[in-house]
Amino acid sequence: MTQMIAMLAGDGIGPEIMTEAEKVLNTLKSDFGLDVELEHALVGGAAIDATGGPLPAETLELAKKSDAVLLGAVGGPKWEPLDISIRPEKGLLGLRSELNLFANLRPAILYPELANASTLKPEVVAGLDILIVRELTGGIYFGQPRGIRTNENGEQEGFNTLVYAESEIERIARIGFESAQKRDKRLCSVDKANVLEATEFWRNVIDRVAKDYPDVEVTHMYVDNAAMQLVRYPKQFDVMVTTNMFGDILSDLASQLTGSIGMLPSASLDENNKGMYEPSHGSAPDIAGQGIANPLATILSAAMMLRYSLNRADLADKVEAAVSKVLQDGLRTKDIAGDGGTEVTTVEMGDAVVKALLAG
Ligand code: NAD
Repeated sequence: MTQMIAMLAGDGIGPEIMTEAEKVLNTLKSDFGLDVELEHALVGGAAIDATGGPLPAETLELAKKSDAVLLGAVGGPKWEPLDISIRPEKGLLGLRSELNLFANLRPAILYPELANASTLKPEVVAGLDILIVRELTGGIYFGQPRGIRTNENGEQEGFNTLVYAESEIERIARIGFESAQKRDKRLCSVDKANVLEATEFWRNVIDRVAKDYPDVEVTHMYVDNAAMQLVRYPKQFDVMVTTNMFGDILSDLASQLTGSIGMLPSASLDENNKGMYEPSHGSAPDIAGQGIANPLATILSAAMMLRYSLNRADLADKVEAAVSKVLQDGLRTKDIAGDGGTEVTTVEMGDAVVKALLAG
């Protein structure tokens, strides 16, 4: 049966990188028997300009009826003066919560060819393969009450709420343990249990759920130490599971270990493995329109989509192999060009992946 993919390009470099991922998907359709239909819709700033809001009803409807969503990136300086409730990022947060995408999986893998692109010493990062599992629909980014108010001293104050229900922690813990079972069977849960009761509770729930996964070695780490350890000796980690805000920060940190945020895909899943797939980076307004954005994170996100939501791990393997091949051939977009190689544009990189796919 034909599966439907919602294609949401968004803002900044979003349309440029999505065009390259679409080329790859179209090649899989024409030459590898992938049976999908690609439907486009607006999100983020592009949607604000066209409709007044970052998540139009048609976009949400398309996302809900699709088997998977592939997204570029949203946001940019043009929309920063808007009220926070209708900024582009609200479109993304809305999609995540409306689709109940509570689990964000961000692999940080260092391709051997890019070991010199990292700011860390090659021996510290070579062979790095970490998976960060971030809770995505709860915690302080969604907790109520929130806002800016005048306190009893007549002073303005900003406030947010960090709250986690047991069921929210349990379901993300299970994704973490099950991911670890498919890898090196080690799970590190990251919290701030010494200061925040909400994460002391998080730790208790992780320990309870751990009893169901006796084959996985579980450890706990405070977030400040985890940040330090990720830079000091990142290869000690296999899977890390953590809260929404800690995961947001740590996954960006982990991305830099690999040399470029332009290389890192992500998947956000619901209970049934329906998912939204997007690069870990943002809309990079500083380089938008220059044809130099790295499309590989988006292409690798499409590969994750094939694996997790479309049940085509065979094609995911082919796409990932094609990406490895172009890196082996020395092709580099500007962001990963530090170690030499041949500098190529966004379009040339997409074309090279298609060529490698067809040759493979
Ligand atoms: P960013 O990830 O967009 O950019 C950070 C740096 O990385 C920039 O120097 C950029 O040029 C570079 N970069 C990012 N992606 C790249 C790629 N594919 N190829 C080459 N270089 C790349 O983060 P930012 O600058 O903090 O945010 C810019 C905008 O994106 C903001 O409006 C922010 O809110 C938004 N944002 C959106 C998402 C999302 O859509 N998921 C995530 C983060 C930030």
